[in-house]
Amino acid sequence: MGEAATGMRVAQLRIWKVAQTSFVLDAWDGVPWAVWQTDSARDAEILAEYAGRLCYQSWSNPSGRSNEAYLRNILAQEHFSVVEHAGFTVVLTGVSRSCTHELVRHRHFSFSQLSQRFYNEEDAAVVVPPLFREDPEALAILEEVYATTRAAYRRLVELAQRRLEGLPDRRLRRKRAREAARCVLPNMTETHIVVTGNHRSWREFFEKRGSLHADAEIREVAVRIFQEVARPLAPHLYQDFEVVRRELGAGGVADTLERRHLDADE
Ligand SMILES: Cc1cc2nc3c(=O)[nH]c(=O)nc-3n(C[C@H](O)[C@H](O)[C@H](O)COP(=O)(O)OP(=O)(O)OC[C@H]3O[C@@H](n4cnc5c(N)ncnc54)[C@H](O)[C@@H]3O)c2cc1C
Repeated sequence: MGEAATGMRVAQLRIWKVAQTSFVLDAWDGVPWAVWQTDSARDAEILAEYAGRLCYQSWSNPSGRSNEAYLRNILAQEHFSVVEHAGFTVVLTGVSRSCTHELVRHRHFSFSQLSQRFYNEEDAAVVVPPLFREDPEALAILEEVYATTRAAYRRLVELAQRRLEGLPDRRLRRKRAREAARCVLPNMTETHIVVTGNHRSWREFFEKRGSLHADAEIREVAVRIFQEVARPLAPHLYQDFEVVRRELGAGGVADTLERRHLDADE
């Protein structure tokens, strides 16, 4: 976290994995899948293969097909329900409110986000858009905006508290003051958010928000979650995705996520 002369704290994106699905099935005797064996040791991949094999009761594997090959065929056929059973949760800090406004459009995720009604945003950090991070002129403008909006937020909270003096509940008074005063907080205000999704939802998200056409900050979020959490957790479920560095023009480059077409088995 950097701090400018105005006191503007600049937050950096951080991503933590919070939770992930475990495969816990252990009743092997006398059940149809007793003969099944897989070469993956990763729970999400085992669960996806299990779900796929259950559909066709294809528990024996005489050709010794690998989990990676099995899931490649599932993805190529777009047999995506199989990919919905496992998932993971991350917490993001150092993301802007404008970024999370885009993130929450993804309807198959579950979210819990820092409340601007309860939390005092007076000293909130900001997130600088990638285009402006190394630009002193742009940073100076952001600092001006920061100083102005912070002063306005403080004054509005005080004003609202005075107007609500008749309210005996101090916590309610504070909440109502903050919910009104937050109207001046800029899109760059930092927020924290917990996001849970199954692997199908994450794939959807990576494809749309990892694209060159997506906003630069959410693209960075998508690429980082892919690299730091999703791919290490279940590489076979993301085997058709890759990180590709693209030219943005005017000397800029960006890491993007690209999905390549997979051919189904005959
Ligand atoms: C480059 C870019 C620019 C954008 N610009 C704008 C903009 O200017 N204005 C704006 O409002 N939004 C904009 N968006 C947001 C966009 O319209 C979607 O809301 C967002 O990308 C979430 O994607 P989704 O709705 O496909 O998927 P999700 O909500 O993640 O759902 C995944 C998939 O489930 C299916 N699905 C989910 N809900 C329904 C439903 N109700 N009916 C049918 N199928 C459903 C669809 O197949 C969908 O693709 C933009 C997105 C991108 C990537």
